[in-house]
Amino acid sequence: MSLLSTQNLVAHYGDFQALFGVDIEFGEAETIAIIGANGAGKTTLMRSIAGVLSNHANAVRFDGAEIGALPADEIMAQGVAMVPEGRKLFPSLSVEENLLIGTYGRKKSGQWTLDTVYELFPILRERRHTPGTALSGGQQQMVAIGRALMSNPRVLLCDEISLGLAPVVIKDIYKAVPAIKAAGASIIVVEQDIAQALAVADRVYCMMEGRVTLSGTPGSLSREAIHNAYFGAH
Ligand code: ATP
Repeated sequence: MSLLSTQNLVAHYGDFQALFGVDIEFGEAETIAIIGANGAGKTTLMRSIAGVLSNHANAVRFDGAEIGALPADEIMAQGVAMVPEGRKLFPSLSVEENLLIGTYGRKKSGQWTLDTVYELFPILRERRHTPGTALSGGQQQMVAIGRALMSNPRVLLCDEISLGLAPVVIKDIYKAVPAIKAAGASIIVVEQDIAQALAVADRVYCMMEGRVTLSGTPGSLSREAIHNAYFGAH
């Protein structure tokens, strides 16, 4: 049985329709990558699953229950956490204070604590009293991931965690994925870098103009099929 799925998911911003009947699904401890060009609807899909954008109850199912109409804080309490695009840290708060915000409203017990987050990203222990603004982009991204983990999620939604970071820093961040999986979470990464997405994911969904245009395991997708699904066949 799938852990989380969307059925005929649609999303609007006012009169503008951003998603047209998106169906995705994934199981326990799976890593899914969502790829697609700017404006394809990847962020909108993440926001819809996280409950930031409202939907029909049956458009999103998590752990056997319909969660599509629940508010974002309730969805998070049930175990779906989001690492938002742009990290969205509290700039004047320290690393540790930002991480502790992730425990707010937490209902799930689990393995994530300040100590286990610091084991995952040792640099954060060294910088634990540093304010968010004084961190490098990569360190801020680590805090954003750590903060989401502090809620002990079963699903971690990561929106464009590579954005604006140097390749060596991106590598460091993606090194955390196996440990997060081993702790029992499924991960969805929205990723513009196709090679990075194929390297990390068990399965990939490609989106274009608000629709899923391709899905499969990295090994089953040809470069040409991905190119066509990403840019459209010409
Ligand atoms: P990006 O890589 O640029 O973040 P994306 O694939 O995540 O792209 P979305 O951000 O989900 O795409 O945007 C999908 C569509 O919805 C785009 O056409 C975008 O212009 C539009 N859109 C996104 N947010 C809003 C908003 N708040 N109001 C109106 N339109 C929006």
